[in-house]
Amino acid sequence: MLEIRDLQKTYSAGIKALDRIDLMIGPGMFGLLGPNGAGKSTLMRTIASLQLPDSGQIVFDGTDVLSEPMALRQRLGYLPQYFGAYPYIGCRALLRHMAILKGLPDNRETIEQIDELLELTNLTKHASRSVTKFSGGMRQRFGIAQALLGDPDLLILDEPTAGLDPEERLRLYNLLSQLSTDRVVLLSTHIVDDVEQLCPLVAIIHGGRIACQGATQDLLSDLEGKIWSAPEGEGAAVAKTPLSTSFRMGKAVSRYYFDENPGAGFTASRPTLQDLYFRVLDTGEAR
Ligand code: ADP
Repeated sequence: MLEIRDLQKTYSAGIKALDRIDLMIGPGMFGLLGPNGAGKSTLMRTIASLQLPDSGQIVFDGTDVLSEPMALRQRLGYLPQYFGAYPYIGCRALLRHMAILKGLPDNRETIEQIDELLELTNLTKHASRSVTKFSGGMRQRFGIAQALLGDPDLLILDEPTAGLDPEERLRLYNLLSQLSTDRVVLLSTHIVDDVEQLCPLVAIIHGGRIACQGATQDLLSDLEGKIWSAPEGEGAAVAKTPLSTSFRMGKAVSRYYFDENPGAGFTASRPTLQDLYFRVLDTGEAR
């Protein structure tokens, strides 16, 4: 269990990146969803003990992360938003190098684990190529492989699908869905689809605050009967700002939040995570 209590961080120039964050995160895939600038990377780096908060507490399975960062790092896998790679070394050799840096013994067992991770991430046939020559999707799969070295209990993935094309994203979803459910996996993203497809639990972060959190399904159930769609700008719909407007084959349809049936011209629609997300960004509330 990862427990985050009253975490605060203000950068110079007064930017409040984390504003009294409280989270309790058990095993399984947990989505931290928020727009750019919401504070996700600051939170991920702080949990990974790569930077310090101004105040607050982080406890992972009884270990105080802030006072015992080394104890956490041995149990942590971290895929940062951006990572570099050495150009003159193959992918398998780089994993071995990273395993040693992570404190794993340079022995047969570690080499076997590296081969298993290459298999899992579908990189076996590229094992001798330099990561700098990889496509975006392959790079991210390599990033997952290095994060899984040492079989960590806490896996932090910061924007793992950013910049991937739809096919690569789907491949990464497949990989992420295979990660075991008995570890805490924290997936930070601004892509609603990532959370909708992978995460049974979610928190939405906005302006450094957790605007809502819970089981994704429960949060959507709370919106049941309150999401209505209408052709963009039509009839009574023009009086209210939509949550979102999307296009389907060139036709614009707007989605709205109403407590009651708004009347003619509107169609009741199944709530999606995107509706919840826009509602939270708009009002700061889940309902
Ligand atoms: P996200 O990952 O959700 O995009 P970040 O944690 O990167 O959000 O940033 C949160 C806020 O803190 C933003 O306003 C960002 O500009 C600011 N910020 C992030 N890192 C720094 C830093 N090292 N120094 C000053 N401000 C920063």
